[in-house]
Amino acid sequence: MITLDSDINFLPGIPTVYRKKLKNLEINKVRDLLFYFPTRYQDFSKLIEIKNIPANQDVSIRGQILEIKNNFIRRYKITSALISDETGNIKATWFGQTYLSKILKKGDWVILAGKTVQTKSGIHLSNPIYEKIDPQEFDSNHLNLMHTGRIIPIYSQSQKLSSRWIRKIISGILNEISDINEYLPENIIKEHNLLDLKTALSQVHFPDSMEKAKLAQQRFAFDELLVLELLVIKEKIKNSAQDSIAFPIKLEAVQSFVKSLPFPLTDDQKKAVWRILKDMESPSPMSRLLEGDVGSGKTVVAAIACLNVIKNGYQAAFMAPTEILAIQHFKTLSKIFAGFNINVGLLTGKQDKFMSKKLKGQPIEISKKKLIEKTEEGEINILVGTHALIKGKVKFKDLGILIIDEQHRFGVAQRASLIKERKQKKTYVPHLLSMTATPIPRSLALTVYGDLDLTIIKQMPEGRKKIITQIITEEKRQNTYDFIADEIKSGRQAFVICPRIQENKDQKEKKNSSWEDVKSATKVFCHLQEKIFPNLKIALLHGKMPIKEKDKTMQNFKDKKYDILVSTSVVEVGVDVPNATVMMIEGAERFGLAQLHQFRGRVGRSQYQSYCFLFLSDGSSSNERSLALVKSETGFAVAQKDLEIRGPGEIFGTKQSGIPDIVMSALKDIELVEKTRQIAKEILISDQHLKKYPELAKRLNSFKEKVHLE
Ligand code: ADP
Ligand code: MG
Repeated sequence: MITLDSDINFLPGIPTVYRKKLKNLEINKVRDLLFYFPTRYQDFSKLIEIKNIPANQDVSIRGQILEIKNNFIRRYKITSALISDETGNIKATWFGQTYLSKILKKGDWVILAGKTVQTKSGIHLSNPIYEKIDPQEFDSNHLNLMHTGRIIPIYSQSQKLSSRWIRKIISGILNEISDINEYLPENIIKEHNLLDLKTALSQVHFPDSMEKAKLAQQRFAFDELLVLELLVIKEKIKNSAQDSIAFPIKLEAVQSFVKSLPFPLTDDQKKAVWRILKDMESPSPMSRLLEGDVGSGKTVVAAIACLNVIKNGYQAAFMAPTEILAIQHFKTLSKIFAGFNINVGLLTGKQDKFMSKKLKGQPIEISKKKLIEKTEEGEINILVGTHALIKGKVKFKDLGILIIDEQHRFGVAQRASLIKERKQKKTYVPHLLSMTATPIPRSLALTVYGDLDLTIIKQMPEGRKKIITQIITEEKRQNTYDFIADEIKSGRQAFVICPRIQENKDQKEKKNSSWEDVKSATKVFCHLQEKIFPNLKIALLHGKMPIKEKDKTMQNFKDKKYDILVSTSVVEVGVDVPNATVMMIEGAERFGLAQLHQFRGRVGRSQYQSYCFLFLSDGSSSNERSLALVKSETGFAVAQKDLEIRGPGEIFGTKQSGIPDIVMSALKDIELVEKTRQIAKEILISDQHLKKYPELAKRLNSFKEKVHLE
């Protein structure tokens, strides 16, 4: 007896190679197979009489094989058959499938479906799909057909499993399966006019009509969204039920800190700060995502959150995606906290040697061991670092808040695992503040990020000018150099970004390799220093340099000891050098749109007019992403464009998260997202563990196994 829970290994008629292929598709149970949906359909439902067959169209015919034979025309193996119904004859030809003449025999009744082509000798069917039928059993509804004479499902070609084969297996299961337990509550099915599960499963694979197929798809989109919502809302409920520490707002400290800043906070920054401080006043853990375009000033908001925690006697952890950014945050925080009796540490996993002594704000080096000790003892109030911070052996004495900067780079998966690790070590969880420059579409904010509360900084600090962005053709290269020289003369600085560190020998030898054109940072650095700007001070920065050197180079650039920084993508996120006004990008086609926007965000961080110059490797002036960057000023506009170009799966790491495609496309339907979110909430309010809906709970668990939100 087959049920949804049957292992596919117990199904008859699946050769071992196919089992392996199915396994690779994560199909282990009958349930998985039935939920392996077609990617599209082909409509062969209308049987046409042979005499009425039109040319160049998809058709299905029913007839008897009068003759079938293999021919060899030059190198080609062609199988041709003559098919006849009461109204006439038609020739069908197949290329390179001579085995067909063993399957289809003279006298067999068949349905053939495929495209018709007009040839000199009349209309032929070219490479049609075939299905043998028993003329006695053949009924006019032809619903017992699998491959022809109906709307047929086409499945993804991955693992080289043919649609024909999948159809056969799934159809077999649908005929055999004894019971399909509905997992949606009945009232919900009724209320939202959904197909019941059994009907939906059979209609999604073998629809009676395109409308039915659509209804089935809608039902599953609904299901999967609902399950996703149940998952995140459950997570949210679970999270807020945990204990955290309530931190009263230390208004005096916060105010005097804000006063000490060299600038007034923007209204949006103030609102964000307030929201965060209010969150942390409660003993239920904050899970907040702070979203603000590059340069909108998120760091200082996070700093105030940390200050409040520290003034309550607890520690803060501040995690950055790169070493360079960690060092920068460490220095910024050391500086702005200098007068506030706060000790700042830096841990990067390689050379963890800084520590700001009380009051002086002058970092000194200490060993990693010492640093960890001081963190454990609570002497370090705020520890900045890369992910070594939470992956390593650091134990905080009293961690009150975890800040994750540019968190989408860590992926959806890690975000929650971080909190989890902490949970196990302490009886309370720290508050979590995640920051990103990437606008999260509302649909994702309500689903994938649905366990986080969202605060948006829309406003830029006063006095910022629009960054002038241009694609520069090769002829104008010298003009750009002249322009950069002028900027530097008037006291500004420039970044030059290259896609690679060095020329790659292997690739260099390959003729015509496009890599030959890709500018390497080392080469550009030498060229600029020797040929273009012999009198300027130029530095080189890339990821392979030891952290100390990276630190020194960045520091010297910040201190204006260099005019130009030639760098790879290591400065992509977060790097803050307000005096720099030119961002020149070589091989811009090598970078994604969001990346380009991040690069551009390295300039325009002060009152000075800033520029972003894009060079394409082929010297041309057109490239989809570069043009999109020129046209899109804000991160929001960039994200919209990026969404069009790449889709949400790539951008938000949901592709790797295992969220089914059907959910990803259902996300476009914001009404459905909102509706399912509401339903999920209602279900969970009355029945947090889904005791009333065991089938739904099962579905939730199997979804959870596949989707890695935590
Ligand atoms: P991001 O949001 O990209 O992380 P940062 O926090 O690095 O931005 O801030 C960008 C720059 O703007 C920094 O040099 C910071 O000191 C400065 N800044 C932050 N807030 C303000 C403000 N309210 N007014 C003026 N400058 C500000
Ligand atoms: Mg930042």
